[in-house]
Amino acid sequence: MDLLPELREVLPEGRITTGEDELNRHGGGIFTYHAPHLPDAVVFPRSREEVLEVLRFADARGVPVVPFGQGSSLEGHTIPVRGGISLDLNGMDGILEIRPDDFVARVQPGVTHGRLNAALEEHGLFFPVDPGWDATLGGMAGTNASGTNAVRYGVMRDQVLGLEVALPGGTVMRTGGLAMKSSAGYGLTGLFVGSEGTLGVFTEIILRLYPIPERTLAARAVFGGIEEASRVAVATIRSGMRIGRVELVDARTIEAVNAYKGTDYPPEPTLFFEFNGSEGSVEEDVAKARGFAEEEGCVSFDFEEDEEGREKLWEARHEAGLAIRQLYGDKSPMATDVCVPISDLPAALAHARETIASRGLDGAILGHVGDGNYHAVFPVDPNDEEDLRRAEEVNAEIVDYALARGGTSTGEHGVGSGKRRHLQREHGDSLPFMLGIKRLADPNGIMNPGKIFAGTEEVREVPEESF
Ligand SMILES: Cc1cc2nc3c(=O)[nH]c(=O)nc-3n(C[C@H](O)[C@H](O)[C@H](O)COP(=O)(O)OP(=O)(O)OC[C@H]3O[C@@H](n4cnc5c(N)ncnc54)[C@H](O)[C@@H]3O)c2cc1C
Repeated sequence: MDLLPELREVLPEGRITTGEDELNRHGGGIFTYHAPHLPDAVVFPRSREEVLEVLRFADARGVPVVPFGQGSSLEGHTIPVRGGISLDLNGMDGILEIRPDDFVARVQPGVTHGRLNAALEEHGLFFPVDPGWDATLGGMAGTNASGTNAVRYGVMRDQVLGLEVALPGGTVMRTGGLAMKSSAGYGLTGLFVGSEGTLGVFTEIILRLYPIPERTLAARAVFGGIEEASRVAVATIRSGMRIGRVELVDARTIEAVNAYKGTDYPPEPTLFFEFNGSEGSVEEDVAKARGFAEEEGCVSFDFEEDEEGREKLWEARHEAGLAIRQLYGDKSPMATDVCVPISDLPAALAHARETIASRGLDGAILGHVGDGNYHAVFPVDPNDEEDLRRAEEVNAEIVDYALARGGTSTGEHGVGSGKRRHLQREHGDSLPFMLGIKRLADPNGIMNPGKIFAGTEEVREVPEESF
């Protein structure tokens, strides 16, 4: 059945494409081992009204709709596994309002965190959530993203004060508002953040902002082992200092960066710190962290204050994702994303390292260790079943270890299609409740089908080929 002519009728000229390049771009992923599947069409709405038209059209005909930001999510989130419409929201990229005195911004979903921060600088403000890709704020709200600043400022769910959501039936709902807090009924904003495009489409987002800290200092400490490095991360957090960032990369990651950038950093586990606050507090914090590092026998501890020096010092951390990608050549990276209670971190990292080695995988470990979240990344050939099985087994063992300690299978990447069975193990008892919410918001099951829920995910079978 060809529904395209009908869809073209409800949207302005030029909003729909079925060009091969765009179908391919929207049918795969940037950094993913998940098998691609093409949408039937890509739609580029420019306004809330156009999003609503698409949703009314799709809902009435059972056509899947997959919201798309930058497609940088890592678990196959934006792959339209049942075809249908990939709804690319990059054209809705207005910064609608910045309210410096209220520490609030109102944006459309296609604005990236980089662009928002560029606009905030003149107000002495910044937005802290910083995934390693210049992702859209719509996509970041979709996955409840975080990044290196989470240890101090929290995750997307902590920053989103309100949402405008276009629902599958073609209605609009607003949650939250401009106030810093609210006890008005159920916390729907928090429910929609992290819903991975399975409940509705965010057409506006209200975000919390922060003053740029008075002083920032960066440091890098090199250790003989990953456990020593992680114990220092834990000690730093436990000391109560308001650390800005603390990140860890292992020796393999440093090797990858050296190969990628032509640098010669010592190939040893390395901790990266950022301290920020007032003039006096930063000096005190650095001295304290240095003390912890020396107690664990760190090989070196360097720090930098000016912006250029700080950037250089953090280079190996900033470049880690792309360097690992390069290291694996034709293979694709599979990344675990567990988060454990902070005191379990040193043992969890040692366990991950042993598990990877025991299966002969060439894995690298890096993480936002200040909050117990780390990634073991290993290469897989998605077309080689044995390779995939081995990697899945290592992934599952690392997840089991985290779950047994009260941790989670995903600290920031979300479930998509890749972590569905882990979610089943983690939250099997609350999944029926989640599915009930899904049915209420999306009774015809058109929103990003095949994600989050494993097995019984179908709200109603959507046609295999809608177009
Ligand atoms: C090199 C690299 C580094 C990364 N580092 C991090 C990191 O440090 N921390 C981290 O959390 N992630 C990280 N990621 C993953 C990724 O950047 C995040 O998942 C990000 O939130 C995805 O944003 P996006 O704009 O690409 O969204 P997409 O991938 O396009 O979409 C993400 C999800 O949100 C849904 N969605 C998109 N827009 C909307 C909307 N307007 N309304 C409703 N739902 C919507 C989609 O359907 C999908 O389910 C990294 C990825 C790469 C490639």
